[in-house]
Amino acid sequence: MTKTAKQIKQEGISDFKKHINLTQTIFLKSVGLEVLEGKRLGVHLWDVDTQERYIDCFCSAGSFNVGRRNTEIVNALDAAIDSWGMGDGMFPSGPKAALAEKLVEIAPEGLNNVMLCSGGGEANDSALKMARGVTGRKEVISFVKAYHGHTGFSLSAIGKPIYRDSFEPLIPGFTHEPPMNDLEAVKRIAGADTAAIILELVQGEAGIFVAEQKFLEGLRKICDERGIMLIFDEVQTGFGRTGKMFCCEHYGVTPDIMTTAKSLSGSVYPISAVIFNDRARKFMEANPDMIVSTFGGGDLACVVGLKAIEYLKKNNIPQHAAEMGDYIGGAILKLVEKHKGLVKEVRRKGLMIGLEYTHDMMGPLMSFFLGTNGVMAIFSANNPKVMRLMPPIVINKEEADRLIAALDNSMTSVKKSAKIIEAASKIPLVGNAIGVQELQVFLILIAKTIGKVIPKSGH
Ligand code: PMP
Repeated sequence: MTKTAKQIKQEGISDFKKHINLTQTIFLKSVGLEVLEGKRLGVHLWDVDTQERYIDCFCSAGSFNVGRRNTEIVNALDAAIDSWGMGDGMFPSGPKAALAEKLVEIAPEGLNNVMLCSGGGEANDSALKMARGVTGRKEVISFVKAYHGHTGFSLSAIGKPIYRDSFEPLIPGFTHEPPMNDLEAVKRIAGADTAAIILELVQGEAGIFVAEQKFLEGLRKICDERGIMLIFDEVQTGFGRTGKMFCCEHYGVTPDIMTTAKSLSGSVYPISAVIFNDRARKFMEANPDMIVSTFGGGDLACVVGLKAIEYLKKNNIPQHAAEMGDYIGGAILKLVEKHKGLVKEVRRKGLMIGLEYTHDMMGPLMSFFLGTNGVMAIFSANNPKVMRLMPPIVINKEEADRLIAALDNSMTSVKKSAKIIEAASKIPLVGNAIGVQELQVFLILIAKTIGKVIPKSGH
């Protein structure tokens, strides 16, 4: 007997819950986003059962810059399957060479060398190893709230203790002391044994904190003077997200090593790359077997990565992201004025947008109401007050207008619910507990009831 769409969804979610991630399933349900991903195309994804269509503003934290199942990229993969497989990590191959050449062509001058890996964490691990290897030094400086992945070196560089605590002792020699944009703190810490300074130019998971021009220029100077390797983690900011191919182009500051991943996948095939200068190359040449990866840069992945870059370049997508960022960002500022009291701050670089709400509860509530208005958006894991809006950067004006209307509608709904939260927070025990997950779920349930009497936007 063929299963109904409803059964497929129920089974999918229940098996996912049973075997993969119970807590995530409960969380998504609590914010009204109990979705089993079905069809996906461009900026949209559809639920298997309800056929509800969502604009994806999470994008696996910025992995879908070229849009989901971009036809040109899917066709390239399709054709590649006829000729290529994984390839052997030991041997040169056409797809690897072509991708490496393209990466060097689009990277800032001086970054002439490429190592291909599978994910962002692995790329950062490799970059940090190169820095230690080439300098012979031990210490690494990363930043408060920094996010670099969950593999060994990357996890050791994460600036949020909660991610590290269960696994201590991690790799020694890492400090996460300086806050982003605090050059004086870096100057105090960076010493003769510092191998690397690693940072995101826009801290994504932390809640969209943008690096300042003087800060980056200062970091470059410190690194040059003290022989430290400067590593830019462009895993999330890369491939057009911030309005330039790489975020560091906004600043005119070039790192020694740049890590990239996410959108190099063309939204269909995992791959990451470390792009580095000739100083780092010295270590790699002298130690060809020290930093390697069996699956890194498989041939199919390379075909896809190359096609993704060609697509971005041919269609001038980074420039498009800058324009759409201004368009959506400008509209959001108007909404902030209209719905006073809801949003404390808007932080943005291109289409990497963060809304900081005035209360912890606003993040989950906005996720919920945006869901009912056809937009998938998740608040930051590091800070429930901050919502990241990162639609595929190929988003067009009509889609942007729908996103803006959904934000407007959701803000209206949240303001109404906010009255309940305010009243609840005045009850002493409840007031203390607000922000605790169960209470958030309870309040969302109340908000859901209210949601039923608030009209959805047309989409
Ligand atoms: N660096 C940054 C800036 C990231 O945002 C992420 C993933 N969110 C990573 C590294 C880790 O990438 P991955 O999950 O592919 O290991």
